[in-house]
Amino acid sequence: MGASLYLIFLIITMFIGFAVLIARSNRGEDTYNDLETEEWDCPECGFHVQAGDTCIYCGGDKQTSP
Ligand SMILES: [Zn+2]
Repeated sequence: MGASLYLIFLIITMFIGFAVLIARSNRGEDTYNDLETEEWDCPECGFHVQAGDTCIYCGGDKQTSP
């Protein structure tokens, strides 16, 4: 009885670990796709924005064409 319980616990642990690995890899790809990693200088105030399409200093939008 003890050996079978240990076996079931081992299988469940492996299954959870595998599921966490898959979920983490999928979420990582989505996060990287959603994040805007390109740095740009705000045309309104000149603030150097490191992430996102909106200036965190003055709220200005990123302009693709100067
Ligand atoms: Zn700005």
